[in-house]
Amino acid sequence: MSTTATRPALTRLREVLGEVVDLQRAAELLQWDQETYMPPGGVEDRASQLSTLQRLAHERFVSAEVSRLLERAEAEVEGLPYESDEASLVRVTRRDLELAMRVPSDLVAARASAAARAASVWREARAASDWSRFAPELEISVDLSRRLAEAIGYEERPYDALIRMTEPGLTTARVASLFAELKAFLLPLVRRLADLADRVDDRVLDRPCDRDAQLALSLEVIRQLGYDLSRGRQDLSAHPFCASFGPGDVRLTTRPGATLRGAALLASVHEAGHAMYEQGIPRSLDRTPLWGGASPGVHESQSRLWENLVGRARPFWEWCLPRLRAALGETVAGVDVDLFWRALNKVRPTYVRVDADEVTYNLHILLRFEIENELLEGRLRVADVPDAWAARLHEYLALERPTDALGPLQDIHWCSGMGHFVGYTLGNLIAAQLMEAARRDLPDLDRQLAGGAFEGLLGWLRERVHRHGRKFTPDELVQRATGSPIGAGPWIAYVETKVRAVYGLG
Ligand code: ZN
Repeated sequence: MSTTATRPALTRLREVLGEVVDLQRAAELLQWDQETYMPPGGVEDRASQLSTLQRLAHERFVSAEVSRLLERAEAEVEGLPYESDEASLVRVTRRDLELAMRVPSDLVAARASAAARAASVWREARAASDWSRFAPELEISVDLSRRLAEAIGYEERPYDALIRMTEPGLTTARVASLFAELKAFLLPLVRRLADLADRVDDRVLDRPCDRDAQLALSLEVIRQLGYDLSRGRQDLSAHPFCASFGPGDVRLTTRPGATLRGAALLASVHEAGHAMYEQGIPRSLDRTPLWGGASPGVHESQSRLWENLVGRARPFWEWCLPRLRAALGETVAGVDVDLFWRALNKVRPTYVRVDADEVTYNLHILLRFEIENELLEGRLRVADVPDAWAARLHEYLALERPTDALGPLQDIHWCSGMGHFVGYTLGNLIAAQLMEAARRDLPDLDRQLAGGAFEGLLGWLRERVHRHGRKFTPDELVQRATGSPIGAGPWIAYVETKVRAVYGLG
């Protein structure tokens, strides 16, 4: 980056931003510890440690010094190319700072404490499968999301403000039109596949499998994919996640299951997709707001690309099945690549989002996106959410009314407000779009995957996605990587082709 002599304000700005990043990463490490090794008795102390660190990071960032330095740095980088490290650092810092300053600190604190309280009520409500117990917390959460949207500001819909914070450049209308395209494709497809269910036998996935063997295999596989274990590690947690503390330390967690259906492998591959993204961001962007994924949606594109477009593809299983057999022995006796790959891709409508197959997954997100908007706009009462949920579940997936626990109480996300789900669908769409572009550049990609050679694909992603960190908005990044803005077309084409192959339709 710039030299001290030519850009003194930018140099000083980087130092201050580096401290902000250090504080944030220290908080993230405490969170990682909370989910992995902390004894249950640590909860209260940990909450105050986290809130202190997060407050210090926020205060340091929105300080008068940062504003003053940023203004001078903006003058220093004038005329530099848009994609240069210097111009990008100043532009992205300005964007982050504007949003951070619009949110009053009492609202930040109110959201944090409401989320913590809601999460503990949610656990009880879910255990009792009783929506009415959680409803008062959701009332508060919706109200805080509305206040947040008012603070950020929006022209058309409150959700616009929320999406602006996570997926810069996108709007509710744009997301709604992507969903409309998906819905028109998916509803008839799901109905058609329900009639063809007998064509795919997935009983192999219900076979029990050894937990230690799952963990050893998943570690072997993610190392082969390109996850660098000298800068990472795999631990266990109730919900798998990825946590990064800088280019030299990006960790993931996984969770073994009792059967092949819930085995650790694809959860590890998913998190390794997140982790390899972070490991691929250059050191030159370290300790700045440019270090990290472009957005939650782009981040999810990396995990889903490896989990679904690689990990559920036939060529991958040509390479992986012998390894699965070596690790699990009898569990996969008599299973060939074709049977296993088709089983893994069977479309089965489920109540639970995290268990959903690739085809029905986006309908779970659509349902949540619609309910969130109706709540935010006052068109749906919190008490009526289970009814709205059941009606859509029936329309989209032909499922009967679920219990509250298997319905609107299944996810923890609403404890911390609205707007978190859309990144999952954006991730699916972006993953397919990137893969389509990668295939143009790597015509023998399937042969590489079948031979366990993943460095070609990883190198392509490093070059087109990872090395840019947070420099670009999701649309800018996808446009540069693939030649088009984010769209639903590549995902629809991918699913059509795959379903035809899995179900043996001509
Ligand atoms: Zn993920």
